[in-house]
Amino acid sequence: NRLNNHFQFVEVNRKDPEKKALRARKRDFVEIYKPFSETEVKRQAHRCIACGNPYCEWKCPVHNYIPDWLKLVSEGNLFEAAELSHQTNSLPEVCGRVCPQDRLCEGACTLNDGFGAVTIGATEKYITDTALALGWRPDMSKVEWTDKKVAIIGAGPAGLGCADILARNGVKPVVFDKYPEIGGLLTFGIPEFKLEKHVMSRRREIFTEMGVEFQLNTEVGKDVQMAELLKEYDAVFMGMGTYSYMKGGFPGESLPGVYEALPFLVSNVNRNLGYEQDEADFIDLKGKRVVVLGGGDTAMDCNRTSIRQGAASVTCAYRRDEENMPGSRREVANAKQEGVRFLFNRQPVEIVGNGKVEGIKLVSTELGESDENGRRRPQVIPGSEEILAADAVLVAFGFRPSPAPWFDDHDIQLDDGGRVVAPEQAQFSFQTSNPKVFAGGDMVRGSDLVVTAIWEGRQAAEGILDFLDV
Ligand code: FAD
Ligand code: SF4
Repeated sequence: NRLNNHFQFVEVNRKDPEKKALRARKRDFVEIYKPFSETEVKRQAHRCIACGNPYCEWKCPVHNYIPDWLKLVSEGNLFEAAELSHQTNSLPEVCGRVCPQDRLCEGACTLNDGFGAVTIGATEKYITDTALALGWRPDMSKVEWTDKKVAIIGAGPAGLGCADILARNGVKPVVFDKYPEIGGLLTFGIPEFKLEKHVMSRRREIFTEMGVEFQLNTEVGKDVQMAELLKEYDAVFMGMGTYSYMKGGFPGESLPGVYEALPFLVSNVNRNLGYEQDEADFIDLKGKRVVVLGGGDTAMDCNRTSIRQGAASVTCAYRRDEENMPGSRREVANAKQEGVRFLFNRQPVEIVGNGKVEGIKLVSTELGESDENGRRRPQVIPGSEEILAADAVLVAFGFRPSPAPWFDDHDIQLDDGGRVVAPEQAQFSFQTSNPKVFAGGDMVRGSDLVVTAIWEGRQAAEGILDFLDV
């Protein structure tokens, strides 16, 4: 019988959920993976051999109880699996969709040794999506509400992770965000083909039912002042992300036709979601020869959004080789399938054009000595210049911290790179130099991942609970 077969991984191959037809994928702003069926998810989950020391759990930044919920779902105990999954993760269905599993949980699976890792991410997504659709909700019946309340600035994954833990411990979270919907970059950044937006609106309803209050369209520093929050609330958590764009520092970057990655992606999401204020804000790449500079998740999202907008061609230039790309391998493979051409070991040195972008000058590179982070530095090969014709260039070099001007007024200290100093090992986890203020996510660790932001938000909430002594 299937449940007693501990060698299922030999008989059943790893299988990812099926993708939709390529022709539709290249046009539509909807998720590209079809959901697993119940039979398939059980077969896949049962491939887990429940190793004594599950490396997947250690490698997962929120330390999900992966083998345990794989077992529960493989035995048909869906609601128990959902309950367990929510003990460690505030947004499991989001992580199941957007985590770079090949570098995290699945990358650490013992079965990688020749058999193919268990499909952990797709199973995590299935558990929550299906349980919520069947009416399961987080169990708040034992929560005893205290008289404490905490202001949270930012409804991104860090802020939501913090709100989740506070609410479950009876402390009222009030979340302020300048955007009209929760999610931060999950809503206004990551495109729909990776994460459809109804996932976040459903989460807003669930968090609201749990007792989290959202004050959207409200910018702290403009619509409400930090001083008021510090006066009215018992503590403040900041999960405000990183929003300064990195520049290449080469000539031609300000030519018309050169765009920063995030405004391009946001303008596309705003049009799709009906949030567009002014038609002129939309960046339309239909029929254009597009060059995307960069090799991370943001660059992949720009590539694939350009394809869906109907660009004439999309070329992605990255200064290291494919092996050294920082983003998820799955998304690189998806971009290739959808028709993106990759130029590896190419570094931009100038954007050329007369009054508008006409091309980009690239030089070839080879990888030299390792830098302080252990990544090999690209070195320019002399005499390797070439010009690639282009009508539009999207710059996706990443993000730097964007500290608010009011941090100084409230004694919130920054490190040399502009990140908020909030050590995990502080007396109260993730407390800043202002004892009443905590912080986490990208603004503390620098641009990283959804799952690490969730984890820091949750840990900061533990620090706040200790600080409030509830
Ligand atoms: P954010 O998600 O940036 O949220 C910050 C929130 O704070 C925003 O909603 C903002 O409006 C709000 N805010 C800021 N200042 C104020 C203020 N003064 N008042 C009120 N509200 C304020 N990670 C992955 O794991 N997988 C991926 O596939 C992936 N793809 C990505 C694609 C793109 C295009 C980008 C840009 C990032 C991607 N990331 C991905 C990274 C991931 O999205 C971030 O690491 C994560 O969202 C950081 O969470 P956060 O809560 O710290 O900040
Ligand atoms: Fe894997 Fe991310 Fe889920 Fe952890 S949260 S199990 S790393 S998909």
